[in-house]
Amino acid sequence: MAQIELRNIGKKFKQEAVIENLNLTIRSGSFTVLVGPSGCGKSTTLRMVAGLERQTEGEIWIDGKCVSDTPPGLRDVAMVFQNYALYPTMSVRGNIEFGLKNKGVAKPERERLIGDISELVGLTPYLDKKPQSLSGGQRQRVALARAMVKQPKVFILDEPLSNLDAKLRSQMRTELIQLHKRLGTTFVYVTHDQVEAMSMGDEIVVMDKGVIQQADGPMAIYGQPANLFTAQFIGTPPMNVLLQEDMHALGIPAMPGVHYAGFRPEHAVLNPPDGTEGIMLRGRIATRESLGAEQIYQLELASGALVSVKTFLRPMETVEWAAAAIPAEALHAFDVRGNRVECSLNEWREAAGGGILTAAGAGGRS
Ligand code: ADP
Ligand code: MG
Repeated sequence: MAQIELRNIGKKFKQEAVIENLNLTIRSGSFTVLVGPSGCGKSTTLRMVAGLERQTEGEIWIDGKCVSDTPPGLRDVAMVFQNYALYPTMSVRGNIEFGLKNKGVAKPERERLIGDISELVGLTPYLDKKPQSLSGGQRQRVALARAMVKQPKVFILDEPLSNLDAKLRSQMRTELIQLHKRLGTTFVYVTHDQVEAMSMGDEIVVMDKGVIQQADGPMAIYGQPANLFTAQFIGTPPMNVLLQEDMHALGIPAMPGVHYAGFRPEHAVLNPPDGTEGIMLRGRIATRESLGAEQIYQLELASGALVSVKTFLRPMETVEWAAAAIPAEALHAFDVRGNRVECSLNEWREAAGGGILTAAGAGGRS
């Protein structure tokens, strides 16, 4: 168990800054997920924690000790990569054993560790096989087992499931969550996939362009996104963001300091029954997408703005127009720079002179 602290970390490659003034505390025993678009600096951040890359500025602390000058082998950090990086000529056993031999662990202890951990990750029947005869999922388990036998204080996993097909990926996600529970070790996990981040992390760190946008639990990231980037990066389809002119056209009241209003597609109530409270939208159905149980429509509003609506209602196959209600409590507000503004329901209500919550039927304001 170990807490990790990144203090005022900066990283430049040549003259180019890729990480700027990054501050982050990773709770001991947490499953922390770094998520962000490709190139935002996730791998660089992890490599600095592991000691594979030296930060240009700032300090890294693990378990109460500054490790900035500690070489990677002595940081008690084990890393698992996307491409597994297994030794092709060695058996599964050999791959797992390699690091232990290097550390000078005695034979009986090596055997015990290999036995326990192979059992834990389901590799016992494959110990004498070579990596190339294994499936992608089994290879990833070997990479995990190799990291686990070192009994590190911290596991660092950089997009470890990206090479697996969708079904296996979701199975391995579950296995990793269970493994984390059993080991209780700090896991730091990198992915560009927001669904993976939300389903695995107990702490989520959203990054963009080398800057942390928000670090919080998954429900807070979803429910109170700190800015427009996080609001639109997490969730599919992304949060709808209305500009001031769209807000005005829909009768969303002007609020001091509020430049954007957002709502999630799944919070819109499609074809609301009469009496439904909320802001009414009406639009031409521009696109429709069916995922079986879920239907996603894009509505083109009178202002020309497109908004997505997600529903579990049966597909509307022939209709061309649809209405939706946005409950006032589903609204998110952002300032001119895209940062979250806390607006209470009462503030919206007052600004609207009560109008924002007036009951309206499907034929209401358009
Ligand atoms: P991510 O893992 O989020 O996709 P990376 O941490 O790999 O992003 O990269 C962040 C930025 O740093 C990218 O612009 C990338 O091109 C740059 N970068 C990463 N490693 C190096 C390197 N060794 N030399 C120069 N630039 C690098
Ligand atoms: Mg990367």
